[in-house]
Amino acid sequence: MSEANNTCELCTTAGGEPVWQGSLCRVVLIEEADYPGYCRVVLNRHEREMSDLPGEEQQEMMRVVFTVEAVLRRLIDPDKINLASLGNITPHVHWHVIPRWTKDRCFPNPIWGLAQRSDTSIAAMIDVQKLKQALAEQLGEPNVTSDRSIP
Ligand SMILES: [Zn+2]
Repeated sequence: MSEANNTCELCTTAGGEPVWQGSLCRVVLIEEADYPGYCRVVLNRHEREMSDLPGEEQQEMMRVVFTVEAVLRRLIDPDKINLASLGNITPHVHWHVIPRWTKDRCFPNPIWGLAQRSDTSIAAMIDVQKLKQALAEQLGEPNVTSDRSIP
């Protein structure tokens, strides 16, 4: 197990607005006007790759990722969901769960790719309270005693 890394953004900050907290990982909402509902699932401790986790933790991580995906589909009905694990800049295990719309800024490119249009008007809005409630229903109540990673 790796120690917390004090130069790592995901060891020193929550990485977004916390919407669910578990003992292994947390879910945070990213403020990104062009991509409402954009969430990250962040491992609470510092590890570099998914294959650094024991099998049961890999499965739990993916259970949370797929639950976030399903909840976002239900709440805001995007045209597509993108799942991504990159970590080139922040090598701390985390998954991006990104709702996409065919008229969003970069579609069909990845959100980090070349913009395809500037006049984006995504009508969807994420209700943070509904998101928190849905995640708590699906994943269990947030485990607030283990939130050492959330300042
Ligand atoms: Zn880290």
